[in-house]
Amino acid sequence: MRNGEVSFWWSQLGLPAPTEPLDGSIRADVCIVGGGYTGLWTAYYLKRAQPGLRVVVLEQRFAGYGASGRNGGWLANSITGGRERYLASHGREAVARFQAAANDAVDEVIRVAAAEGIDADIHKGGEFLVAYDAPQLERLIAFARSEQQWAETDLELYSAEEARRRIDVAGTMGAAWHPHTARLHPAKLAAGLRRTVLELGVELYEGTCVTELRPFAAITDRGVVQAAAIVRATEGFTAGLAGAHRDWLPLNSSLVVTEPLPPQVWEDIGWAGRETLGDMAHAYMYAQRTADDRIAFGGRGRPYRYGSKIDTDGATPGSTVRRLRELIERFWPVLRGVRLDHAWSGVLGVPRDWSATVGLDRATGIGWAGGYVGTGVASTNLAGRTLTDLILERDTELVTLPWVDHRVRRWEPEPLRWVAVQALYAMYYAADRAELDRRQTTSPLARLADLVSGH
Ligand SMILES: Cc1cc2nc3c(=O)[nH]c(=O)nc-3n(C[C@H](O)[C@H](O)[C@H](O)COP(=O)(O)OP(=O)(O)OC[C@H]3O[C@@H](n4cnc5c(N)ncnc54)[C@H](O)[C@@H]3O)c2cc1C
Repeated sequence: MRNGEVSFWWSQLGLPAPTEPLDGSIRADVCIVGGGYTGLWTAYYLKRAQPGLRVVVLEQRFAGYGASGRNGGWLANSITGGRERYLASHGREAVARFQAAANDAVDEVIRVAAAEGIDADIHKGGEFLVAYDAPQLERLIAFARSEQQWAETDLELYSAEEARRRIDVAGTMGAAWHPHTARLHPAKLAAGLRRTVLELGVELYEGTCVTELRPFAAITDRGVVQAAAIVRATEGFTAGLAGAHRDWLPLNSSLVVTEPLPPQVWEDIGWAGRETLGDMAHAYMYAQRTADDRIAFGGRGRPYRYGSKIDTDGATPGSTVRRLRELIERFWPVLRGVRLDHAWSGVLGVPRDWSATVGLDRATGIGWAGGYVGTGVASTNLAGRTLTDLILERDTELVTLPWVDHRVRRWEPEPLRWVAVQALYAMYYAADRAELDRRQTTSPLARLADLVSGH
């Protein structure tokens, strides 16, 4: 089994030959720091809107090196952190518009990929959430009731029998499905966007690490870029920038991928609709059936490292791989002993209130987007279009959405942060175990963890 090497997705594709790094100081109209989906979508829409703009992207390794080249490939319509928070601050109509924009972001990614000739194995089969113990079922039903109060969610509930006809997960007690999610190959999307923005004339400097953002300037190890707008698109790596250490917590998530599975196994499992698959556990899992008939299966491994440290190219501890294997085998006993071809990890950005944000501070020219937690594949597209409108001072519907300019307090300093996150995940894992063993209702441990984390 391969381990790390950025991700299975990149190892399937081969790493791109890097562009030249920055060589001395330059001026641009817009400088984007970070070449993930956020940075690439922002560059894409800026160039499409105004081809004459000088747009520079600075990337420490290569575009798609971060979460964008490693994720689970759910192109989903989630509002990170949920709607409730915005309901209180912005009202029902604004939240409904936000949901409609999130749904639309899924279709926009699919549309642009087709228009630009990016083949990212996209299949819109919807999102399937399974419950396999009583407390999970209780949460699933409550979730469905709350979703069904909103026009744009289109969520359906399935009985155990209906659910198993679609994807046969052992012990299924019920499931929910909605149509607004697609599966994709994350690195193919990143590589396709990288190629597209290069063709549009975006200047991409890879191997160029930004150390600090100042008003109208990005300071790198190889020169300074001055620009009217500087976009911070560094997500889980943001703690590495001077002064940003406590903004977003870098949380790790890990995946494994099976060998390609033969047709007789798929006859057992079903999954003909190639929905994305998740569960209702507290330390939840997420999975997809890949275009080449493997299962990519993810969940939280070692969630957080002391001092916001980040793994080396996705290297994943054996204990995490074992836990993911156990879960796969519990889901589908027919896969006992299945070969795992690759394990890898990536880092997500978690704000103190678990809600994503996008904005531009006109006094410093510094813009930002991120804090997507585990739901950035579609929201990065919405963020890229929103940043474009903010930078070009366009008075659009997008710049009035509730997440624009959303601000939240910073994380606690160490060692408090480390202790809190370790305790949090210990509580979630313990709650899941208790619920699987015997509990009929959600464990109070999980409720306590939600309270502590601000989740
Ligand atoms: C394992 C995993 C699974 C996930 N699964 C899903 C999923 O299925 N669906 C979903 O919607 N979301 C998922 N996510 C989240 C999603 O992948 C991210 O929200 C999204 O990719 C964020 O894109 P980004 O461009 O903001 O950040 P990133 O893709 O992390 O890009 C940031 C880039 O900035 C560069 N950078 C950082 N610091 C500097 C610096 N100082 N100087 C220069 N460059 C710098 C990095 O090298 C990196 O390339 C997952 C994330 C992980 C880690």
